[in-house]
Amino acid sequence: MSVTILSDTRSTGTEVAFQQCINPACRTKVSIDRAIFECPHCADLLDVVYDWDRAEVPSSLSWFERKWAERTDPENFSGVWRFRELLPFVAKNQIVTIGEGQTLLQRSDPVASYVGVQPGGLLLQYEGMNPSGSFKDNGMAAAFTHARMVGAKRVACASTGNTSASLAVFCSSTTFGFKAIIFIGSGKIAYGKLSQALDHGALTIQIVGDFDDALERVRQVAGRLGIYLMNSVNPFRLEGQKTIMYRILEAMRWEVPDWIVVPGGNLGNSSSFGKAFIELKHLGLIKKVPRLAVINATGAHTLDQLVSHHGLTWRNGLTDPDVINNYYSHLNREHLKADTIASAIEINRPVNLKKCLRALDFCDGVVREVNDQEILDAKAKVGAGGLGCEPASAASVAGARLLREQGVIAASDRVVCILTGHQLKDPTVTVAYHSADQEQFEKVLGSRGVKRAGFANRPVVVPNDLDTIIRTIGMYATTEEA
Ligand SMILES: *Cc1c(COP(=O)(O)O)cnc(C)c1O
Ligand SMILES: [Zn+2]
Repeated sequence: MSVTILSDTRSTGTEVAFQQCINPACRTKVSIDRAIFECPHCADLLDVVYDWDRAEVPSSLSWFERKWAERTDPENFSGVWRFRELLPFVAKNQIVTIGEGQTLLQRSDPVASYVGVQPGGLLLQYEGMNPSGSFKDNGMAAAFTHARMVGAKRVACASTGNTSASLAVFCSSTTFGFKAIIFIGSGKIAYGKLSQALDHGALTIQIVGDFDDALERVRQVAGRLGIYLMNSVNPFRLEGQKTIMYRILEAMRWEVPDWIVVPGGNLGNSSSFGKAFIELKHLGLIKKVPRLAVINATGAHTLDQLVSHHGLTWRNGLTDPDVINNYYSHLNREHLKADTIASAIEINRPVNLKKCLRALDFCDGVVREVNDQEILDAKAKVGAGGLGCEPASAASVAGARLLREQGVIAASDRVVCILTGHQLKDPTVTVAYHSADQEQFEKVLGSRGVKRAGFANRPVVVPNDLDTIIRTIGMYATTEEA
């Protein structure tokens, strides 16, 4: 188990925080005053690294409870910044917040039963409660703070929808003169997300291509025009997303669950969760580390292919580049594009792949894939037994169920599934699944290989006649079953 994320004691300088290349053969350091987001020496990913000896870190996690009494201060109200001692790259007067991170860890026994764990054993971390409706706001709070620190004004991202929605909300609802530029691919964005980008006034550039194409372009444009890049290749995003784990621990009264299950797209979340636990363990703030399960959609399963079938591992940062490059060549040769109903994870070239491998290594993690049918059935179960989520989020529940079936997760385990985005992000899919309209079902879902809506809650069509309506209610909503 290697902890390369931590600053080695030979580190020079007086800064508490700096950026550092994750490649152990390189380890180039970059000041946090810069916004380049790739190693200037070897082009690998950068981490935000702390010299914890210089930082003021509390001696126990329960110390953070004192912030609850100071909720009128926006920096203590924020579910990100009330943990700022664990992401100490920022001076207090530079913080950007829109009230992100007021989330809920919800116990759901119906979902526990679907997954196959005991009552009380399944918890849903509902990130849909964020101001823009997805977990992305956690990362944006940190990245916008960094953008403010370096004096950036124009900020850009490529997005499957939620990153752009979050970026647009941060630009429209803060007063630091940020201007939003977003890149989306053609055709694949869910309406709830697109409507947010437009409503909040972001310059929206739609290119012919998919997310992977859009990301490549935005990185070029950002470099050329000196625009601040807000994709999760930006390591400050991942600092904000660590707090999702802190809030889970907080909601569990600082106990550590057995499993964290998260959908995997660009792998920013899984990477940041791993970093959170590496640091908490190093600081002696937790004893046990939860296991991590990252769940791909079958139509966008690069991580699962590489890890579960091609033996790719972290190897202290010496990840075999040939395994990755061969796989990407294969995608190119066969013209394989990501394709899943879970549009938020419809990504074939995850930028944070190596950081995710590190997280899997530290958290004794596993990777699985679930198909669109399994995702939609799990989504219906989440909706019927808890707070609603968008398709990608339900991959976590479908993945937990699969791991339980395989005996990897035990019936007595305590499992936290991350519901990454709000149900209303993608109503088209929800309505098509539940709809009695076969044509609608076929149009939206049939082409994805979704055959049936096993848990559909179909609307009942009745004539406009009082007696028939009363009879219908008697038929469908009897009270004795309760
Ligand atoms: C962005 C997103 C994901 C994927 O997260 P990564 O950090 O890119 O792996 C999953 N679900 C939703 C709802 C998202 O918006
Ligand atoms: Zn490097």
